[in-house]
Amino acid sequence: MRKNIVAGNWKMNNDLAQTESLLTDLKKQTKTTSAEVMVAPTFTNLYHAYEALRTTDIEVVAQNMHFAEKGAYTGEISASMLKSVGVNTVILGHSERREYFNETDELLAKKVDAALANDIRVIFCFGEELADRKAGNEETIVGNQIKNALFHLEAEAFKNIVLAYEPVWAIGTGETASPEQAQDMHAFIRKTLADKYGNNVADEVSILYGGSVKPANAVEIFSKPDVDGGLIGGAALNAEDFFAIVNAF
Ligand code: 13P
Repeated sequence: MRKNIVAGNWKMNNDLAQTESLLTDLKKQTKTTSAEVMVAPTFTNLYHAYEALRTTDIEVVAQNMHFAEKGAYTGEISASMLKSVGVNTVILGHSERREYFNETDELLAKKVDAALANDIRVIFCFGEELADRKAGNEETIVGNQIKNALFHLEAEAFKNIVLAYEPVWAIGTGETASPEQAQDMHAFIRKTLADKYGNNVADEVSILYGGSVKPANAVEIFSKPDVDGGLIGGAALNAEDFFAIVNAF
C-alpha cells in the first residue's frame, strides 16, 4: 500500500528566528491522519529543525543537493553532508531549480543517482509550463521529464522515490490544477511507470500534487485515487494551515 505524504517546501523563506517560531508552532499541531509529514527548511536551518523535530514524527528534508561527494564546488552541499545532519530525504528537480538554476534532466539524473547511492530518498519534481498545457503537450513534457531523469534506474530504486507533479502555472499563482486535471495527469504518470516497470512498481510509488494547495482545496484534491499527497509551498509557512492540509486526508 503506497504512502500518503504531505511535504512543506519552505523555499528561501525564514531566517533562524522565524524558523524557530514556525517549528514551535508545528509542534503544537495534532495529526489526525496516517499521512507522513515532512518539512524542507533552507540549508542553514536544517540541523536546527532536525533537532527541534526529532521527538515528533515530522521528517526534516532538504530542498536540493549536489551530485558530487565532495570537493571544489563552492556553495554546494553533498548527500553525505545532508545525512550527517539527520536528513534522509531530498527534493530534486523543483521547477524553480530548473528555471533559475538551469537544472536539466541530465543533471537531475546525476543528482538522483547520488542521492540513492547515499540512501537518501528522493522527492522528484516535474511539471509542464502554461504554454505546454495550452498547446496540449503536457503529457509529452511530463513523460519526458520522468523518462530522462529516472528511467535509467532499476525497478528496485523506486522504493526510494516519491514523485511530485507540480504544474508550473499553478505554483505560487493561486491557480490550482482542478482535481480532475491532477487526477488525469497522475494516472498518466502511473501508467508511464507501469509501462516501463510493471504495475507492482507503479502502484507502490506515491505521487504528490503541488501548486497552490490550501486548506480549502486539499480535501478535494487528495480525494482523487492517484493523488497520494501534496508538496506545499506558501501554505506550509503557517503551521495551522499546513496541518489543516495534512489532516485533509
Ligand atoms: P505553492 O503551494 O506556494 O503554490 O508552491 C508549490 C510548490 O512549489 C511546492 O514545492
